[in-house]
Amino acid sequence: MKAWFRMDLWKRVMIGLVLGTLIGLCFRYGLSEEGASQAASYFKPFGDLFLNLIRMLVVPLIFLTLVSGVLAMGDPKKLGSLGGRAIGIYMVTTFVAVTIGLIIGTILQPGAGFDVGAVSQDQIEATRAQLESGGAMETVGVFEQIMRTVLAIVPTNIVEAMVNGDVLPIIFFAIMFGIGILLAGEAGKPIADVFNSGAEAILKLTLIVMEVAPFGVLALMAWVMAEYGLDVVVALGMMTLSVYLACVLHILITHGTLLKVVARLPLLPFFRGVTDAQMVAYSTSSSSATLPVTISVAENNLGVSKPVASSVLPLGATINMDGTALYQGLIALFAAQALGIDVHIGMYFTVAIMATLVSIGTAGIPSVSLFLATTTLSVIGATPDQMLLILAPLFAFDRLLDMMRTLTNITGDLAVSTVVAKWEGEFDERVYMAEDNTTADIDRTMLK
Ligand code: ASP
Repeated sequence: MKAWFRMDLWKRVMIGLVLGTLIGLCFRYGLSEEGASQAASYFKPFGDLFLNLIRMLVVPLIFLTLVSGVLAMGDPKKLGSLGGRAIGIYMVTTFVAVTIGLIIGTILQPGAGFDVGAVSQDQIEATRAQLESGGAMETVGVFEQIMRTVLAIVPTNIVEAMVNGDVLPIIFFAIMFGIGILLAGEAGKPIADVFNSGAEAILKLTLIVMEVAPFGVLALMAWVMAEYGLDVVVALGMMTLSVYLACVLHILITHGTLLKVVARLPLLPFFRGVTDAQMVAYSTSSSSATLPVTISVAENNLGVSKPVASSVLPLGATINMDGTALYQGLIALFAAQALGIDVHIGMYFTVAIMATLVSIGTAGIPSVSLFLATTTLSVIGATPDQMLLILAPLFAFDRLLDMMRTLTNITGDLAVSTVVAKWEGEFDERVYMAEDNTTADIDRTMLK
């Protein structure tokens, strides 16, 4: 027992991930179909329990730590420069991500051998219903898309935004409220203390919840593997390979270059430090739900200061989705190849711009990519019926692809927050470089 808790948390989470995968695969391929789905339903509640635990933290965590971060910075102007830089790099990395998706899609031709004729009518109808209920079948122009995003940032009712867990309006209100407290001077001191101690407390609570992560990740992986197995590899072989390859390349090349060349930091401590968050993202398929873990590893393992972590990361979980954007590029080419649509060079550019835009302003929740894809597919000229032919099989096998996109999304957020922290002098290099920069576990911090 003691040896378990002494082990680095990322190693424990990794053990959970591997064991969960193996257990799930044994159930799926070792039992009858019914047995496998029963096994999946036994694991799911435990996975959901973990998911609830981390999602429970999201709203209070963003609100408390961001207000306290603004207070710690003391100067709203600094927040402006920090936010501006973060948004700038977010845009660039997202654009590069789509480009990588388009390059891999052109080389590997994931849609070339795909038979759209084999898609069943039932699947098409189910997909149509899903897309319609998500409002994804209406066509939206670029300007309208941008204005929708802008309008969604300012809440009319902050309580409603909190109830719905809408990250962008909460960020907006928290920043404004923090500025209000700063301007109130002496009179704002009592509430500033409340926010500062509240932020400390919720960060400690995050560490407690993280202790459950190895078990939560195990349950989620066992459920996913028992439920979906590796069928995606057979059904969408080249597409699966393209998504995983493009994501790995993007992480190594784009995020690696950012850290190594722009921030001049070694890569190993980064990848060691972010493993917990990557595993949680992979098993939950939701960057919003992973947010508490992302913030925790940024502060405890990477040495990113509280003001930067609490502002740049929640923003990133919504507006910076590299894996999602990259996938849009791949879907566009997959569809074009499967449907025999000619894609000229101008379209590549429009797809890249559109994919960057649609990935902004949408929450990081499971399978959101597929709802965004209707916009991307309309750029290459696919009709609504053709879209359904492409999206139906993707919906059926999305989970394993979604997991990799989500991992890529949060890795991008963490890389950018590290670079911004370094630029802004909000970075503790000793924490980043420490041999054991994976100390986001409760026993060590509590014993301090
Ligand atoms: N599930 C992804 C996320 O939460 C979004 C997507 O579907 O690509 O980041």
